[in-house]
Amino acid sequence: MAIEQARPGVIDGSALRADFPVFDRPHRSGVRLCFLDSAASAPKPRTVIEAVADTYAHHYANVHRGIYELSEDATGRFEDARRSLARFIGATSDREVVFVRNATEAINLVAYSWGRSNVGPDDLLLSTEMEHHANLVPWQQLADATRARLEYVRVTDDGRLDLDDLRARMARGPRLVALAHVSNALGTINPVAEIAAMAREVGAVTVLDAAQSVPHLPVDVARLGVDFAALSGHKMLGPSGIGALWGRRELLDAMPPFMTGGSMISRVTLEGTSWNEVPWKFEAGTPAIAEAVGLAAAVDYLEGLGMSNVRAHERLLFERAWSALGELEGIRLLGPDSVEEHAGVISFVVDGVHPHDVATVFDAEGVAVRAGHHCAQPLMHRYDLPATTRASFSVFNDLDDIERLIDAIGSVRRLFGTA
Ligand code: PMP
Repeated sequence: MAIEQARPGVIDGSALRADFPVFDRPHRSGVRLCFLDSAASAPKPRTVIEAVADTYAHHYANVHRGIYELSEDATGRFEDARRSLARFIGATSDREVVFVRNATEAINLVAYSWGRSNVGPDDLLLSTEMEHHANLVPWQQLADATRARLEYVRVTDDGRLDLDDLRARMARGPRLVALAHVSNALGTINPVAEIAAMAREVGAVTVLDAAQSVPHLPVDVARLGVDFAALSGHKMLGPSGIGALWGRRELLDAMPPFMTGGSMISRVTLEGTSWNEVPWKFEAGTPAIAEAVGLAAAVDYLEGLGMSNVRAHERLLFERAWSALGELEGIRLLGPDSVEEHAGVISFVVDGVHPHDVATVFDAEGVAVRAGHHCAQPLMHRYDLPATTRASFSVFNDLDDIERLIDAIGSVRRLFGTA
């Protein structure tokens, strides 16, 4: 995508809340909902909800089949959505964008389709200690199925990938490097372009888990130099049930299908089947048509704001929250102490209080955060923690939300006598 000039402060989070119907809903505490859990799943702007409803109401039929107007209309909208998303993430062709249900399915598609035909006994696969289970378990399964070796790049105490450890493992010639662009549990922004360049040099394929970066930063997959990227619509203000795998065309062309059945075929006889072209080769069965159109509406919404502005806005919120939290005693902050290397996610621990209790007290004050292991149990183990509390920011948050967060921590500490 075109990288527009960032204009810090250009996004007015409180004004944007008017675009999100969920904020019309009163919280039982009587105060405005302070939503700090977009990293789990984001609220939807009205334009997205309306795009989905309008598709079902006026433009819905099955796609790629009908020889009638309504089906051609639905097909056009579905394929337009693919083009929007391709442009948004910097794909050189919309044929490189495969619609799937979510980032988890996108990564599994690569692990099954590319993995089972390109990985063999004793091959080395690299993942990292900071991965979401979605970018870890599929590689364990692949290693088990192919008798490959799976190693994890270590993370440092301050939540960065240990690049010395990475270089040492890269020198052993992995077949694959799978990593997150942004860690959902720490907020760390990994130096993906640098790592993808190292991987290319040793002939490894890079799989990027972009679930937490595409909604929050300008992402250009071609410029990053990765080979595959996975994303989920529901984290980028779009509907659930729709996500995408982007892959380099020559890799996708060479891969066998992931699932088989209708739509993904070119010709079927009782003796055998030939496959459709990409991306449809990977889209077996009826896809999530209205949800794809809703995802394109989310892309329009984010593009309307400008991704550099989104990043500048969330960076400002992060800076304020990080420095205010850092001044409090008895709060452990996770992840890099660097605004450049940290997305709008703050994972923290209040000494002496379980993260679930923290989140429960927050909820009583209308502040929604996530508490738990964030589907990153090996990372929690690395830091010897059962769980953390996580606040994550989006376009509709503002400095008032940061104040609410800090005030809620004050309530926790008073309640638990740790103040
Ligand atoms: N990767 C990361 C970094 C995530 O944060 C998540 C969702 N928490 C996923 C992958 C999986 O996304 P989904 O559940 O939409 O498949």
